[in-house]
Amino acid sequence: MNRNFKLFTNIAILLLLLAGCSSNEGKSTELDKQQTKEQPIAVQGAMDVEVSEFLKAMGDYKEEKHGNFSFYIGEIEGIPVVVSQTEVGMVNAAASTTLLIEKYNPKVVINQGTAGGHDPDIHVFDTVIATEVINIGSFRSDRVEDGQGMKPENWIHMATELKDKNGETQNYSSLPSDPELVEAAKNVADKYKHGQVVEGVIGSGDWWNREIDRINWFHENFGTSGEEMEAFAVAQVTHLLDVPFLSLRTISNSEVTDDNIEDLEKAGHYGAEFTIEVVKEIAK
Ligand code: SAH
Repeated sequence: MNRNFKLFTNIAILLLLLAGCSSNEGKSTELDKQQTKEQPIAVQGAMDVEVSEFLKAMGDYKEEKHGNFSFYIGEIEGIPVVVSQTEVGMVNAAASTTLLIEKYNPKVVINQGTAGGHDPDIHVFDTVIATEVINIGSFRSDRVEDGQGMKPENWIHMATELKDKNGETQNYSSLPSDPELVEAAKNVADKYKHGQVVEGVIGSGDWWNREIDRINWFHENFGTSGEEMEAFAVAQVTHLLDVPFLSLRTISNSEVTDDNIEDLEKAGHYGAEFTIEVVKEIAK
């Protein structure tokens, strides 16, 4: 009885070991497959109007959801792409970018969409290639006594602390787009027919500013060309996870020109059209 039991347990252990080996083997071939697959170019948009042109251009695509975030996998003119709908705002952008990188291993991440203009020389439907992005929601204030009011004009910009590979903390007052990706975008600037294409600085924060003095203050003190609500969060995550990043934004509204237009739908479509040209240029 005892001997039989021992034999039984030995066989059981052997079977378990074999099962372990074969499932490991399964995993490693899956991993090999992933590694030999061409890495996709990732394009992001927060809202439907900022992703719909990509879906049209892909024609056939597969939607995958992670949590409540949507990812669309397909090809644009034979180029593997993953379209990531980040939803609006900094935390959504950071969370969906983390999932994007973990699940799809993209070779670059292009964050694109609409933005509000900060520069009187940049008009609605112009497109900004952001050489750098800045967090315009990151400030500290000096102490102001009870009853002395709020003094945003005295707010001091707080740099973002990020750990490097050696575990050292570095301070960033802004984060750059990858210079080669900026060059790729500049190379196709003449394909954009809805306005000018300029290089600039994009400011991100969880707010929509319509106070002209505040907009001018950002523009004068931080050199912002426009504001939106995602790019810096994406820049931060891509920087930490070491994936090249590019920010492209098409102006959809501006309080500092006399355009009198707020059209996120058109700007979203125009920006995505331009992004498709940039994707083709990167893939060349
Ligand atoms: N559903 C929201 C609209 C969100 S619009 C509402 O009606 O309140 C905000 C989106 O547009 C963000 O994804 C942001 O990136 C972009 N955006 C365009 N113009 C902007 C501006 N002037 N300020 C901030 N975000 C802007």
